[in-house]
Amino acid sequence: MATDSNRFQAIISHCKEYGFIFPSSEIYDGLGAVYDYGQWGSELKKNIKDYWWKSMVQLHENIVGIDAAIFMHPTTWKASGHVDNFSDPMIDNKDSKKRYRVDHLIEGKAEELEQQGHQDQSEIILKEMDTLLAENDFDGIKKLIENNKIICSVSGTANWTDVRQFNLMFSTEFGAVSSDEEDNKIYLRPETAQGIFVNFLNVQKSGRMKIPFGIAQIGKAFRNEIVARQFIFRMREFEQMEMQFFVRPGTQMQWYEHWKAQRMQWHLSLGIPASKYRFHDHVKLAHYADAACDIEYDFPIGFKEVEGIHSRTDFDLKKHQEFSRKKIQYFDNDLDESGKPYGNYIPYVVETSIGVDRTVMMVLSEAYEEQDLSTEEKKDSRVVLKIPVHLAPIKLAILPLVKKDGLPEIARSLMNDCKPVFNCFYEEKDTIGKRYRRMDALGTPFCVTIDHQTKEDNMVTIRYRDTMQQQRIPLDQVKNIVKEAMDV
Ligand code: ATP
Repeated sequence: MATDSNRFQAIISHCKEYGFIFPSSEIYDGLGAVYDYGQWGSELKKNIKDYWWKSMVQLHENIVGIDAAIFMHPTTWKASGHVDNFSDPMIDNKDSKKRYRVDHLIEGKAEELEQQGHQDQSEIILKEMDTLLAENDFDGIKKLIENNKIICSVSGTANWTDVRQFNLMFSTEFGAVSSDEEDNKIYLRPETAQGIFVNFLNVQKSGRMKIPFGIAQIGKAFRNEIVARQFIFRMREFEQMEMQFFVRPGTQMQWYEHWKAQRMQWHLSLGIPASKYRFHDHVKLAHYADAACDIEYDFPIGFKEVEGIHSRTDFDLKKHQEFSRKKIQYFDNDLDESGKPYGNYIPYVVETSIGVDRTVMMVLSEAYEEQDLSTEEKKDSRVVLKIPVHLAPIKLAILPLVKKDGLPEIARSLMNDCKPVFNCFYEEKDTIGKRYRRMDALGTPFCVTIDHQTKEDNMVTIRYRDTMQQQRIPLDQVKNIVKEAMDV
């Protein structure tokens, strides 16, 4: 069985070999931290997005979805604070010229200490880091790195520059004329949230939405990440699923707790056990937040953030009101305790923000299993992706035992019956054993084999991915069995 780091590498190779995820423009040696989803990866990703959309939008009468543009007026990013604040403290090694995010460098050291059995020391350095970052004490951070003798993994030296801030937004020119003038500079959005904030009034008025209500969105975001070598965990182009929930000022903590619990429920509904998740409460709060936490999953590379839940106060709407000089307020005609309407105010916001790609990586990490099936007589093994049925790229493989004797015709007719309802895969090449193994590797929960007996009794063999059990069932029950298993 693979170790954790081997397991991570094995998952990456598996994704490439079986058409889930490829490095971008690979024929030109790839592009750092950019990936393409292949035929099965894109199905998995789409199923995850649909599931999120269904649980957040379809099942909540007070949440609606939008699809805002990636390009936004440049003032958006001045108002939101991204031009001035969306940066990470970085440090360069003077010998290797390699640049590191200081928190990653220190976390790496803490992990090393933990592996060596120095749990206490590991916790102390992380605590110290949190405190120093919260105070923006960059000299202190540099001292922490030096005192703990943290070295660059390339040069092996501790010859560090000072700690500096590095903005993570990509910029490009807008319109036909290329120029260095700031006026033409436009950013690729680093988060989808701002598309929601600038549309707050449009949606609230056109949808006659009453507070509390939410606006959800799925879309691309771009960040010029410096240390980006963890497969699809940290990409320069990625996708987010965000929901901004607008509430009455003063009620934000109650809603923050509500969404924390709701989102954890959603994670558990993916069939992942509670022991693989944990909350991480932020000590250093972003400039807009009055409370924030992450939901972390135990990846093969350790516990890492999949989703952030942030109480963003009225920061964003207030800033957009200030920069646009347009009133962005809500009139609340509900009555307060003294019987007067709450009146006009800028709503507070609790947001849930989850990365699509990190969720894909989480589902794949949880699903990937290498099994030794050897018996005394023969060696055997398989790789199986135990992806939940509703998320699996292919739900049903339809396999005629041989390519003749009328079996393909029966298989084709089943295929035509099922494919409008869910994703099916038809295959008549290779032995049945090999075809089963291939479907296991793609995470297909059900295979159905049509054999000569089927012609006599209209029964087929259904084979279950997780248990490898086989059962004879009537042909006309196949569609319903799969459909029922897809329900969550
Ligand atoms: P990190 O600390 O890991 O950089 P973050 O706290 O900056 O993440 P948020 O700004 O809260 O992330 O973004 C919300 C979600 O978007 C994250 O929980 C993550 O799932 C996803 N995300 C953020 N950056 C990336 C990235 N570079 N690649 C893939 N997903 C990302």
